[in-house]
Amino acid sequence: MALIKNEKEIALMAEAGRKLARVLAALRKEVKAGVTTAALDARARELLKEVDAVSAFLGYKPHGAAKPYPAVLCVSVNDTVVHGVPGEYVIRDGDLVKIDMGLVHERYYSDSAITIGVGKVAASARKLIQATEEALRAGIKAARAGNTLGDIGFAVSEQVHRGGFSVIQQLTGHGIGTALHEDPYVFNVGRQGEGDVLKAGMVIAIEPMVAMGKPQVKQLRDDSFATKDGSLSAHFEHTVAITSSGPRILTESGI
Ligand code: MG
Ligand code: MG
Repeated sequence: MALIKNEKEIALMAEAGRKLARVLAALRKEVKAGVTTAALDARARELLKEVDAVSAFLGYKPHGAAKPYPAVLCVSVNDTVVHGVPGEYVIRDGDLVKIDMGLVHERYYSDSAITIGVGKVAASARKLIQATEEALRAGIKAARAGNTLGDIGFAVSEQVHRGGFSVIQQLTGHGIGTALHEDPYVFNVGRQGEGDVLKAGMVIAIEPMVAMGKPQVKQLRDDSFATKDGSLSAHFEHTVAITSSGPRILTESGI
């Protein structure tokens, strides 16, 4: 069962979220053709210093990973869905670039991801990005006290299927707090009314991962996950607090 956070803890998580939103907004502008993914990571390290926060990813060893994570960003391009390791890859016109980042502010974590279409992107790829972002919005809308985790998964998958795309089911969202990954798993599929009941004070990372083709993914040698059929993928994520007055997105600027 998810840990319940009190108001003070949620305020700290909101500050962690605001910092992350600022960093991601700045990074978004730097994602363009000709830039290496390593350069984005270097910029993210500077931005972390500017907002006075610590990376949640650097040195982190998720379950099933072969080695500790070497960067502050995950930059996953095209068929790579998540956990892409920044390196010498040069971003090209038409790429779908997913940036996933987590940070820590006074022991509390925030986690968020965006997908950016670089330059001239195919109409179908733009549609994929839009459908994934809409699926995140639908999931957040369902994140209300009294609803269930199944309601979130149902809302996400319905929205994805409406766009004609596939939900990647091997990867999930998660609870978040004083650790990057806490209980419960937040699935992107589900049945309405099933699973854990959501309560005010829960904080979860909702993160639809969507494929243009088949939903199966494979783990590569650098621990990243890519679609098995090589089709394009998109990913959006917000850290969301469930409050008595509805879902509160912590990783959105202007809150
Ligand atoms: Mg993330
Ligand atoms: Mg996450």
